Amino acid sequence: MTSIPILKEREEQIYQKGSEPFKMKCEKHSLAGSVSQRACVFCGSRVVLYPVADALHLIHGPIGCAAYTWDIRGALSSGPELHRLSFSTDLQEKDVIFGGEKKLYAALTELIEQYEPKAAFVYSTCIVGIIGDDVDSICRKVGKEFGIPVLPVHSEGFKGTKKDGYKTACDALAQLVGTGQTADLGPISINIMGEFNIGGEAWMIKEYYRQIGVDVVSIMTGDGRVDDIKRSHGAKLNVVQCSGSMTHLAEMMKEKYGIPFIRVSYFGIEDMAQALYDVADYFKEQPEIMEKAQILVRSEVNRIYPELKKIKAQVCGKRAAIYVGGAFKAFSLIKALRYLGMEVVLAGSQTGNEKDYEILRDMCNDGTVILDDANPLELSKYIIEKNADLFIGGVKERPIAYKMGIGFCDHNHERKTPLAGFEGMLNFAHEVCQTITSPVWQFTSHR
Ligand code: SF4
Repeated sequence: MTSIPILKEREEQIYQKGSEPFKMKCEKHSLAGSVSQRACVFCGSRVVLYPVADALHLIHGPIGCAAYTWDIRGALSSGPELHRLSFSTDLQEKDVIFGGEKKLYAALTELIEQYEPKAAFVYSTCIVGIIGDDVDSICRKVGKEFGIPVLPVHSEGFKGTKKDGYKTACDALAQLVGTGQTADLGPISINIMGEFNIGGEAWMIKEYYRQIGVDVVSIMTGDGRVDDIKRSHGAKLNVVQCSGSMTHLAEMMKEKYGIPFIRVSYFGIEDMAQALYDVADYFKEQPEIMEKAQILVRSEVNRIYPELKKIKAQVCGKRAAIYVGGAFKAFSLIKALRYLGMEVVLAGSQTGNEKDYEILRDMCNDGTVILDDANPLELSKYIIEKNADLFIGGVKERPIAYKMGIGFCDHNHERKTPLAGFEGMLNFAHEVCQTITSPVWQFTSHR
C-alpha cells in the first residue's frame, strides 16, 4: 500500500470490490479543494451542442471560458464547420459592473449577419449568472429580427456538475425538435443520440444502420444539422448512447411525441452487435432487418477476429485502470478489455449514479477499486497500488498516466481514430497493445 492518504470526506465515494457494505455516495457536488477531474456545467453543455455544425456557438462570458474550443473536442462534420469557430463576448470588468446585454446583442447581430447560421446557441457562464444579464430576452429579440432560432443555454458553471450541463443542452435542443417537416420520413427510422463523431464514428454507425435497412433522421450530437434536429420528432425510435448526456432529451421526446428510446453502446464487439440487434428487434415486424444485422455482425467479426487474436496474445494478463465521464462507457470498456484477456483493476466515472456503480461492482473482479468523481491524487494512488499497466481516460488523465510511467489510451476528446464499431474495436486493441508494449516503460521509476 502507498502512503498517499485519501481525504476523509471522499472515503464514501471510493469502494473496493469485496469489502462490505457496498455504499457509494454519488451524484453530489465535488468536494471543495479535492481538485476534481470533473468539468463545469458550461463544459457539459458545450460537449453536447458543439457538434451542431451549422449553428453559431457564442459564449457569453470572459474569454477564459471560451478556451474550451473545437481543438479540445474535435467533433467532425461532413459539411459546414461553423462549430469550429469559438466566439465570446469577452466580458470585462466594466461589463460586470454595468451589465453585458448590449455587448451580447452587438456580438450576436454581427455574427449572424456575417455567418448566416441556421441557429445560434448562447451559453451563459458563471459571471453572467452572477450579474444577472437577461440572456433570454436578448435571444428572443435577435431571433425575431433574423428569423432563426436563437437559443439561450443556461450553463453557468457554478450551478452544478457537468451532468447539469447535459440537461441544459437537452433543454436547448428540445426547442428545435418538433419545428421541422416530417412528411417524407419513412417508417423504419431512428435518431442516434449521444454519439459525438470525434473520430468519424457517427458515420460508421449510420452506415451499419443503413446496411440493415434502418434510416437515420438525425445524429443530433455528431455531425449535427439544425434542420435534421428540427424534424427528429418524425423518427420512430431514439437510440441513446452514453449514460447521461442525451437521456433527458430522449425522455422529453418520449413524453411529448411518444417516441420510445433504448440505451446502447457502440463500443466493443459485444455491445456494437447488441446495438444493431436491439434496433432490429424494435422493428421486428420486418424480420429481414434482424437477418441483415446478423449477416453484418458475422461478416465484421470474421474480418477483425484474426488480428484481434494476435493482439490478445500480446496483452493478455495486463492490468488496466479506467476513468471516464459516464459509467456506461466503463461497462463497455470492461467487456472489451476482458475480450483481450486483460484485467480491470480500477474503474471510475465523473457522473455515475448509484445504479451505475452497482452494475460496475457486479462486473468487476474482487479487489477492483471503484471511484466516483475522483481526483488526480486518488487515481495515482490506486494506479500504483494496483500495479496498473495501462490507464484509459480523457485529456485530463493523460498526464497522470505518464507521470505514473504507464501506457495511456485516450477514449475521449483528443483522439482522431474511431474507437466505436467493429473497426473501432480493432483500432482500440491496436492502441492498447502499442502503448502497453512500448519499450519506454522499462525506464520509468516505480516499475
Ligand atoms: S466554471 Fe464558470 S468561469 Fe470556469 S469555465 Fe465554467 S463557466 Fe467559465
